[in-house]
Amino acid sequence: MSEPATIELSEEQQALKAAAAEAAQAILGATLKEDDEAERFRKEYFHALGEAGLCGIPVPESYGGLGLGYREYAVVLEEIAKVSASYAVCVAVSGLPSVILSTMGTEAQKERWLPGLAAGELLGAFALSEPGAGSDAASLRATAVRDGDDYVLNGTKFWITHGGYADLYVVMARTGGPGPKGISAFLVPGDTPGLSFGKKEEKMGMRASPTVEVILEDCRVPAENLILGEGQGFTVAMSALDSGRITIGAVSVGLCQASLEAAARYATERKQFGRAIIDFQGVGFMLADMACRTEAARLLVHKAAALRDAGLPYSDIAAMAKCVATDAAMAVTTDGVQCLGGYGYTREYPLERYMRDAKVMQIVEGTNQVQRLVIARSLKRRYGRD
Ligand SMILES: Cc1cc2nc3c(=O)[nH]c(=O)nc-3n(C[C@H](O)[C@H](O)[C@H](O)COP(=O)(O)OP(=O)(O)OC[C@H]3O[C@@H](n4cnc5c(N)ncnc54)[C@H](O)[C@@H]3O)c2cc1C
Repeated sequence: MSEPATIELSEEQQALKAAAAEAAQAILGATLKEDDEAERFRKEYFHALGEAGLCGIPVPESYGGLGLGYREYAVVLEEIAKVSASYAVCVAVSGLPSVILSTMGTEAQKERWLPGLAAGELLGAFALSEPGAGSDAASLRATAVRDGDDYVLNGTKFWITHGGYADLYVVMARTGGPGPKGISAFLVPGDTPGLSFGKKEEKMGMRASPTVEVILEDCRVPAENLILGEGQGFTVAMSALDSGRITIGAVSVGLCQASLEAAARYATERKQFGRAIIDFQGVGFMLADMACRTEAARLLVHKAAALRDAGLPYSDIAAMAKCVATDAAMAVTTDGVQCLGGYGYTREYPLERYMRDAKVMQIVEGTNQVQRLVIARSLKRRYGRD
């Protein structure tokens, strides 16, 4: 059966989509269920995605990337997520240090790290959250104190994707007083003495993606590892998360599409009362709503990506795309399970994994309540009278 017609992707983007789909299936397909059950992350799979050219999509060509835009990045992440949301998030999270370095790094920082990250040889991580600082990230307490030509970092970071596996951590720590202006961002190589790893979270979903406590104890990095300058760390983090909202949106669209396809196939084959269950309005309309939500989410993600690619303001739309796409993923994956009845609830089919994986999309990189705060603040700025 033919795929639905598309006018929103160029021929090159469609070719990239097909290549990403094929590579993701070949690299990740075989051990999905086993790794989900064992909560196993395989760093070699990330390297293989890099060899397939999928880890440096928006990194400039001069630093080893493909030099493409966020629309292409969204296309690729959607295809990886259709196979494994854990590895789509892996590519997206490793992409946060890349986007930070591409847009805000010094020449030396870019040359040192970007080619390895873009090739998927080096795995990146982003360490902002702490036990007491989640949504209120500006209240973080990790410290960085200048000592000669170095900074010495101390503190605990929580929920860090790739903790213990990453080759490079972008760590936000306090160099000044309270609030966002006292925060700075540092490049911390994974083998830095004083960097260690605590509890690995046992999670509902995203079980092939490691989420780990990161401990900094007199962790010394050279002053040239500071990004942008002292006091710029919150700006660095928020700017990366603006881009991250597009990528989490794209991963969520992948979850929607995978659920829709699996549920529609099943509903066409499964017969009850002598008819395919898709022919019952209750099921057919549920699938229709799943398709509507998926298409709408994809268009909003691509709008945010297109604005970013055009160099236009995209923060608000990225927040909307993150909200809409992740809420769509939760609704669509839940309905996907419903379409399969009892089988949807078993691990024989992937629908229950999609549903478990979707839940965290509403939480990471700014909860959907926080996205709504961002959108509401922007509405107040735009339409407020004073
Ligand atoms: C699987 C996973 C991977 C993660 N990976 C990373 C990572 O790689 N790096 C990293 O730095 N962090 C990471 N995080 C952390 C993630 O960003 C935080 O969990 C998230 O920001 C929410 O923080 P919190 O969990 O402390 O919840 P809280 O901030 O305590 O929020 C709890 C609830 O209160 C709501 N809430 C809070 N403040 C407000 C408000 N002002 N208005 C309305 N509602 C509000 C929230 O929306 C939420 O529903 C990860 C988390 C998970 C679960």
